[in-house]
Amino acid sequence: MVGPARHFIDGEFVDGVEGRTFATLNPATNDPLTQVAEGGQADVDRAVRAARKAFDTGPWPRMAPADRAKALTRVADAIDHHVDAIALMETLDTGIPISQVRKGQIPRAADNFRFFAEMATRMTGETYPVGETFVNYTIRQPVGVAGLITPWNTPFMLETWKVAPCLAAGNTCVLKPAEWAPVSAQELAEVIQHADLPPGIFNVVQGFGETTGAALVAHPMAQLISFTGETTTGKEIMRNGAATLKRFSMELGGKSPVVVFADADLDRALDATIFGLFSLNGERCTAGSRLFVEEPIYDAFVDNVVRRASNIRVGGPLEETTELGPLIHPEHWTRVSGYIEVGLKEGARVATGGKRPERFPRGNYLEPTVLVDVHNGMRVAQEEIFGPVLVAIPFRDESEVVRMANDTRYGLVAYVWTRDASRAHRLAAAVDAGMVWINSQNVRDLRTPFGGMKESGIGREGGHYSFDFYTELKTVHVALGAHHIPKMGTGGQP
Ligand code: NDP
Repeated sequence: MVGPARHFIDGEFVDGVEGRTFATLNPATNDPLTQVAEGGQADVDRAVRAARKAFDTGPWPRMAPADRAKALTRVADAIDHHVDAIALMETLDTGIPISQVRKGQIPRAADNFRFFAEMATRMTGETYPVGETFVNYTIRQPVGVAGLITPWNTPFMLETWKVAPCLAAGNTCVLKPAEWAPVSAQELAEVIQHADLPPGIFNVVQGFGETTGAALVAHPMAQLISFTGETTTGKEIMRNGAATLKRFSMELGGKSPVVVFADADLDRALDATIFGLFSLNGERCTAGSRLFVEEPIYDAFVDNVVRRASNIRVGGPLEETTELGPLIHPEHWTRVSGYIEVGLKEGARVATGGKRPERFPRGNYLEPTVLVDVHNGMRVAQEEIFGPVLVAIPFRDESEVVRMANDTRYGLVAYVWTRDASRAHRLAAAVDAGMVWINSQNVRDLRTPFGGMKESGIGREGGHYSFDFYTELKTVHVALGAHHIPKMGTGGQP
């Protein structure tokens, strides 16, 4: 039912130069789902050269922005048109419940294309008049070939989050998707082919990070690398890209705090806490995975969290009623479960969950888990678990919770729940995070900048901020009259 995931180069689906493939697994069973082309250096080189040719001689970078916008809108329409089919593939590929993928991630992917299509028409420069002697102005131009490297969580949406602004700005690209979720890139390539975009502007090379991804990072013709993934991988990529002086955008890991004060709307805070951690199988970079609760309400609030978590419907990802599906891969299951063991050794207590549900002897299923008796110094409170595991920690007052919230190497997002508006704004300013939600779940406005502080990332994407990364800003100086030019080599003659 699932076709092979191949490379997509210069507008065509192709096998690898060396013809090697690997199997990707269905997370619900760990049976092979399909075969995937394994890209090597030669495939990456072919794809980058196709992208370079499309940039140097093709119509895309030279096209009027309104025409690029029309083409990208066709991609958005094609995604909308095939939403059920794409959602099915994404769920088979990742184990994320179909209801969340169909209603959330795939429509959002279409939104990404539609939004950046419009943004393409809004790219402007600035003018700097200097009296009657000069006018200076800036223009934004596409950079060239971008390498886009994406993770396995919500792969289809995250791929479009990079591809759409990259193309909107007039660049061409090579996408290297995650080896554990390769089918989404195949889907995206099919959609783009169907939307009839010029060949070579969008290419996919499937394969492994250490080989395929590394070859893309090292390729001298790829000038930009937009990476989403783990912090350690981001560091490795920056080291490898230094030799060819890549421009990087880094969207990395997180261990984001949810801060609940006693005066908050506790029902809404509870809903958002549960959804913010356990949706998307807990495999979410912006997950609120450290829950800080003010001491007077700690016991009651955490009891409710535990009750709700233990009621989450774990099931097959294709079941409409499933709320939590299997994790992406057996290795990831082992990693996440290993963290529960680490927590127990550190003195934490499992308040609910902690093991494989008995109903699912196979597949990467794990119960929704809440760890209590946790302090902020424990590894389970400091390291990104990236699964359905929440840690709960009490706090005494505002200053203590700010200190604990910031006592981590990450700084991606934060969530604050309080009815005290002044306190909410104080927290928003004080907490180390690229994005803060006050009395809100994670609702994104595509115009706003997205990115992390500290080891959660470098740079911001979203809105016009994406164009800071995906364009060159060029300054043009124009003399309007005969300004003074100092003379040299005239023997002192004026
Ligand atoms: P990884 O860092 O393991 O992998 C991300 C991508 O990088 C994959 O395509 C991977 O290939 C590739 N890669 C690995 N090594 C290299 C290398 N040396 N050179 C080039 N590419 C390489 O992340 P995960 O896939 O495990 O994704 C989960 C992580 O992503 C979490 O930390 C999460 O927080 C983060 N994330 C951050 C977001 C944000 O916006 N800040 C959003 C979503 C996720 P392969 O698959 O073959 O290993």
